Amino acid sequence: MSSSFSLYIHIPWCWSKCPYCDFNAYAISTHQPDFEHYTLQLIADLKRSQRHAPFLTELTSIYLGGGTPSLMPPYLLEKLFNTIRELYYWHTQLEVTMEISPKTQASYLSDVMRLGVNRFSVGLQSFHPDVLKILGREHHAGESHAIIDSLIQVGSDNFNIDLIYGLAAQSPEMVVEDLRLGLSAPIEHLSWYELMLEPNTQFAKKPELKTDQDTLEQMEEEGMILIEESGFKHYEVSAYYKNRPSQHNSHYWKYGDYIGIGAGAHSKITLKPKQTLRLYKTRYPKDYLKSPKVLVDSIADEAIDYLMNRLRLFTPITFHEIESCLPNQAADHIIKWVNQLESDQLLIVNKESFLLTKRGQLLINDLLYQFQQWRQRIIKQV
Ligand code: SF4
Repeated sequence: MSSSFSLYIHIPWCWSKCPYCDFNAYAISTHQPDFEHYTLQLIADLKRSQRHAPFLTELTSIYLGGGTPSLMPPYLLEKLFNTIRELYYWHTQLEVTMEISPKTQASYLSDVMRLGVNRFSVGLQSFHPDVLKILGREHHAGESHAIIDSLIQVGSDNFNIDLIYGLAAQSPEMVVEDLRLGLSAPIEHLSWYELMLEPNTQFAKKPELKTDQDTLEQMEEEGMILIEESGFKHYEVSAYYKNRPSQHNSHYWKYGDYIGIGAGAHSKITLKPKQTLRLYKTRYPKDYLKSPKVLVDSIADEAIDYLMNRLRLFTPITFHEIESCLPNQAADHIIKWVNQLESDQLLIVNKESFLLTKRGQLLINDLLYQFQQWRQRIIKQV
């Protein structure tokens, strides 16, 4: 059993709530943050988590996500990092990522780099003022450019930018121009993702904001050509890297263990071979600040969860891997399902493994649906 794990730290506040966002994030104007108190709760949360899973000793990455973690004052981050260092070995190569707003100042970047942050992920989305406006972003196009200059200025050599496509207000040319500008910067990693109209967001009620299928496909086709020409490797549904993939996200996609601290954060802990404990924390920051609770997530469907994560990573999945990390029944279902499939446009099926085709990479949800349908039939027959 592995002792390695990654640590996720959730900071739930943002400058404002973007109308397309379904993350556990709250505008600072309406949900006054109390970073001092929140840091104390994060520390208590981390200590509790360590007691719950003392066998997880090998910290492989840290990720500060949100929300907008760059709203957190550096002196509080230092307190939190000190506690992490007391509890775990923080080796020199440890990947420590912080999501940042394009409004972040160079001095802030330097401060957190001194504390140990060595990778940034910028929620840039676009260089076009109109697109940023529709997305309800707080930053303006000038700041999309300025943050890249700041990252270069402070000597960050490992950063990601997020770019979005699929808005009706974007033409394929605008999407390609965003990519061209982003890829011409010394980025190490790109998250290029399609706008989704998530339920319970303001955008869910405005389907007209999404572009039509033909234009979407044109955006994808032209965008992919440019990304490949720029030497980036496509290794996950929306992720591309030059030399260094995200260790933290790869750990999730490989179905590794993780501890999540902060409002609404989830943990996955392997208690013994094939037995996983899933926990989540109180979702609302106000409640988390009052009395954070650790809740057991008992409804997780291991087979679906595994496929949802693992299919995202475009490497062969062996039966041995499935058997070694899933409970018997979940592993059995996946292997039996794969065995009755034949290689087609979506999958390449081998004797002891399977792999998504290029087309399959675009249609993961269809495959998951097929698996669910097949499994329901099998369960009914038993
Ligand atoms: S900045 Fe990011 S996390 Fe915050 S509301 Fe906007 S999309 Fe959501």
